[in-house]
Amino acid sequence: MQEVKQPNKKPFIFYYMIALLVIFLINSLLVPKLAQRAVKEVDYGTFMEMTYNGEIGYVQIEDNQIVFTGKDEKNIYKTGPVYDPELTERLYENGAKFSGEIVEEMSPLLSIFLSWLLPMFIFIVLGQLMYRQMAKKAGGNSMMFGMGKSNAKVYVKSSDGIKFTDVAGEDEAKENLTEIVDYLHNPDKYREIGASMPKGILLVGPPGTGKTMLAKAVAGEANVPFFSMSGSEFVEMFVGMGASKVRDLFSQAKEKAPCIVFIDEIDAIGKKRDGQLGGNDEREQTLNQLLTEMDGFEGNNGVIILAATNRPESLDPALLRPGRFDRRVPVELPDLKGREEILKVHAKKIKLYEDVDFGKIAKMASGASGAELANIVNEAALRAVRDGRNAATQADLEESIEVVIAGYQKKNAILTDKEKLIVAYHEIGHALVAAKQTDSAPVQKITIVPRTSGALGYTMQVDEGNHYLMTKEEIENKIATFTGGRAAEEVVFGSVTTGASNDIEQATKLARAMVTRYGMSKDFDMVAMETVSNQYLGGDTSLCCSAETQTAIDREVVELVKKQHEKAGQILLENRAKLDELSQYLYEKETITGEEFMNILNA
Ligand code: ADP
Repeated sequence: MQEVKQPNKKPFIFYYMIALLVIFLINSLLVPKLAQRAVKEVDYGTFMEMTYNGEIGYVQIEDNQIVFTGKDEKNIYKTGPVYDPELTERLYENGAKFSGEIVEEMSPLLSIFLSWLLPMFIFIVLGQLMYRQMAKKAGGNSMMFGMGKSNAKVYVKSSDGIKFTDVAGEDEAKENLTEIVDYLHNPDKYREIGASMPKGILLVGPPGTGKTMLAKAVAGEANVPFFSMSGSEFVEMFVGMGASKVRDLFSQAKEKAPCIVFIDEIDAIGKKRDGQLGGNDEREQTLNQLLTEMDGFEGNNGVIILAATNRPESLDPALLRPGRFDRRVPVELPDLKGREEILKVHAKKIKLYEDVDFGKIAKMASGASGAELANIVNEAALRAVRDGRNAATQADLEESIEVVIAGYQKKNAILTDKEKLIVAYHEIGHALVAAKQTDSAPVQKITIVPRTSGALGYTMQVDEGNHYLMTKEEIENKIATFTGGRAAEEVVFGSVTTGASNDIEQATKLARAMVTRYGMSKDFDMVAMETVSNQYLGGDTSLCCSAETQTAIDREVVELVKKQHEKAGQILLENRAKLDELSQYLYEKETITGEEFMNILNA
């Protein structure tokens, strides 16, 4: 689909400058020229000569000049005054007539026309031109003319539009939206049976999972115009502007129906209206207008509203009720198969060697969103160019996963040998604890090459496939794995470093969730102590319990982590020889694969 380009907008000041310039030119060049058209300047000698020859018609003596006409009164002359006491007499004797009415200036009418009417006329013409330009742009966001216009980007139908095939994975979402496309193609089929399409469809999911793409794909498949606007674009400085933008958007959409209106990040205007005084009036008005507009059109008029958000829980319930956004389509992070498909879709855009194993890459990139996968493929292509190859390899893709997760490799060695050894033990500690608990290969890869993100080393976990439930033991094992790094430092060096801060955070988070949300604690049974807000954006939690309970929760969390930490230490002590062997190996090689790890462990 192509976005219709708006013509270049010249700033207001530009037109004012032009108008001023024109007036200035008229006044300084044209007016004097016109005024002096007939007046000829002559020297005093010529004036005297003409006087003696009786060639003077009328004469008018002023303080700073003498203006006179010839006998025929057609030509007007002027000359500068000279001290000449007999001038009047001489003129009289030679038949000149004295007059105060030889007007050297142009006629008063012309003068008024030139200095008042003409500039005004020019202003009006320029103003009209300007106004038309602005109006044509249907609300360019210039303050005076664009106020209250919706500014929506219109995507017109075109053959190279995004189609469902461009959106990989997300099969449920696509299935759901296919119905919409079908409706836009044959609305009569639905009308006949009396079914009405949902007016609004809300796409919810974490960032970068393809919500915008899906909306565009619906328009592309249905081959209808697509209006796209971000929620934040509605919110203006002045109360009422946003509402007027909403009105404008809907009136445009109704004209173009059937069409799709897409509002990205709808939480910007759709937030719950709370009872607080002095709330955000502009936002609330905008929301009210949106609610009214959505009610205002009948079900089957062909305008379908798609909206995307990462924060569905913050939306106003009035917006979510049936009749407005009555369908909610979850767009979740892709699973293994989805990731593989997304990689394949994006890999079509770059040149790749044939031996690339997308399945393996997809496994390594567990938890990555569609946008991250697209980025991984692009990084691989960039890396290939950097190394002077003409196609990307498997290694490029693998490296670029690490780039996207952990940043670029730090080129200059900044770790001392001692530090490097500690990092090696730390990482092997994690892997060994994990391996001993599950008796399977726990990692894809371990590396101690520092990264620009600040990670000194990291362990890439094996994707355990699609996993929807976790047992208590599994979570405990996970906590033990997190503590494994620190435990290895303690077992080997007898002291601890700051390297474990991230592990500590993660272990605590898991342990806390066990107690407060999963009902896996000793004392609290199945009582929720925390609620999750922002499910798709990091999952912040807020405590909802008494202060005493908080103290008890803290105590239990500490106990939980402590127990697992001790368990990890125990595992490492029992496998001290393997720990040393593996760590030495990693120290020398800097990067080892999961296979190498298991080979040494089982040797
Ligand atoms: P959001 O969910 O934040 O609206 P977008 O739809 O803007 O995400 O996706 C951002 C980019 O990520 C897209 O331009 C596309 O390159 C890539 N992407 C995300 N999901 C997918 C997918 N399912 N298939 C193919 N590409 C995807």
